[in-house]
Amino acid sequence: MAKVNIGLRGWRFDEDEVFDDEGRIRPLGTMDEDTRARVLRLTERLTDPCDACWLAYGDDRIEECEPAEVIYGEPRGEVILCRDHETDFVYWFREVADEGVIGTVQVQDAFHEWFFDGGRAPEGYAGVEHVDSDPDAVPESPDPTEELPGLEEELERVDDEELDALNVDLDDLDL
Ligand SMILES: [Zn+2]
Repeated sequence: MAKVNIGLRGWRFDEDEVFDDEGRIRPLGTMDEDTRARVLRLTERLTDPCDACWLAYGDDRIEECEPAEVIYGEPRGEVILCRDHETDFVYWFREVADEGVIGTVQVQDAFHEWFFDGGRAPEGYAGVEHVDSDPDAVPESPDPTEELPGLEEELERVDDEELDALNVDLDDLDL
């Protein structure tokens, strides 16, 4: 089965589990719980700026925040990052993070705290190698309706009871 990113690098999905033959999203009820949680969380986060930029600049200077390019961690404990700040995250993850935090939803709070307190990767730290097809391109936030075609209709189709059963909170979604 082909593994794909949706909008951001990092989280990988089985293409056949998430999309049908026409590339439209499958019914949420047919996905396993973890896949569904990630898909829904992605819809909330695709258009957010990099977490670290936001911690550094805040809402007052939101225009200086870079769009996120990568997502790490567990749904609801995820961290999204621009390319520059990905290096800080990778350093934190490898060298600083408490072992008990890795793989849990606490990754988000733990990384945010470290970064907010001034934690950074050392100068020249080799983070992640990128194969960049278009290095001069200005990064843009992915468009949820392009990345997840049919999701909006799918959310309209399923009724409230079903969404409850699927543990979906529509208020969190940004469509
Ligand atoms: Zn950033």
